[in-house]
Amino acid sequence: MKALLIENNNNEYQTELKNFDENLLPEGDVTVEVEYSGLNYKDALAITGKSPVVRQFPMIPGIDFAGKVIQSDSPNFKEGDTVVLNGWGVGERHCGGLAERARVKSDWLIPLPAAFNARQAMAIGTAGYTAMLCVLELEKHGVKPEDGEILVTGAAGGVGSVAIAILAKLGYKVIALTGRASQADYLKSLGAHDILDRAEMSQPGRPLGRERWAGVIDVVGSHVLANACATTQYGGVVAACGLAGGMDFPASVAPFILRGVKLAGVDSVMCPYEKRMEAWSRLATDLDLELLESLTTDIALDEAIEKSEALLAGEVRGRLVVKTM
Ligand code: NDP
Repeated sequence: MKALLIENNNNEYQTELKNFDENLLPEGDVTVEVEYSGLNYKDALAITGKSPVVRQFPMIPGIDFAGKVIQSDSPNFKEGDTVVLNGWGVGERHCGGLAERARVKSDWLIPLPAAFNARQAMAIGTAGYTAMLCVLELEKHGVKPEDGEILVTGAAGGVGSVAIAILAKLGYKVIALTGRASQADYLKSLGAHDILDRAEMSQPGRPLGRERWAGVIDVVGSHVLANACATTQYGGVVAACGLAGGMDFPASVAPFILRGVKLAGVDSVMCPYEKRMEAWSRLATDLDLELLESLTTDIALDEAIEKSEALLAGEVRGRLVVKTM
């Protein structure tokens, strides 16, 4: 079968499209014919080796996939079922979705939601499912459309684009923080009310600023996250899921202890089953499929390496969906 393969021989990190012996796939009770995978930020880190995402070599990257079950020893899935996988260390510690086939634990799979085909599920991918998890955090902490503006950072990327589309459909007034002014029309087409230049939030700021955001979805981390917390309204919520601008968090406790701001961490990888199902079922009702199409670009498996460089350089807009066969 065709697969992207990451090897690390004598500290020489290399990713290539190769023929891979399917018998060498890791253990698992379900084998899936992968139809689509997504190219996520973490995949790009794995493929380029820019961060130590991959724990074992050789490794097939791909933290998500959608496809058809071709063999199952699990009572929960039978041949022909269409399934989706996000996370669980797949593409990091267990061979992943950027290949024609994958063998995984049935516990990691969910049935493909009826609202989507396999391509749409991977156009959403881990980025979109994480965007929904972030929206659920805002809701859980009581943020309502009438409470005020919601800041979405890294707005033109995968998580940001899907988050804007969902929030706008739910009636929130979204302000999109981007480093790419050229994407203003795109961001407004997704539902952003206004655009904010990333430069305004990416430098060290004061511990507290003017209270602006009722909620924040942050994919950037570092100063952007610190400044977002410092400018969140009394009792507001900041859902933090990413590190596109840095893993550090150079902040003070002032927003938390003086304004009761809540910092909600969001993880998609080990997220429990019920919450995943909730996120996917909410995506089915709260994400406009035409907007999803408008933020999606199709690529082939052999383009994934080149596109990974572009993604890490912040040059990719929205989501990249990879046709694996
Ligand atoms: P993308 O590359 O698609 O988007 C990231 C966006 O962040 C870019 O489009 C850009 O937006 C902005 N950005 C890029 N570089 C910088 C920088 N140096 N400083 C500030 N902003 C920058 O990635 P995803 O949307 O797929 O993922 C975003 C983040 O979320 C990643 O860190 C990823 O690891 C994380 N993530 C976490 C998950 C979890 O489970 N916690 C799951 C999925 C993703 P613009 O050009 O508009 O400014």
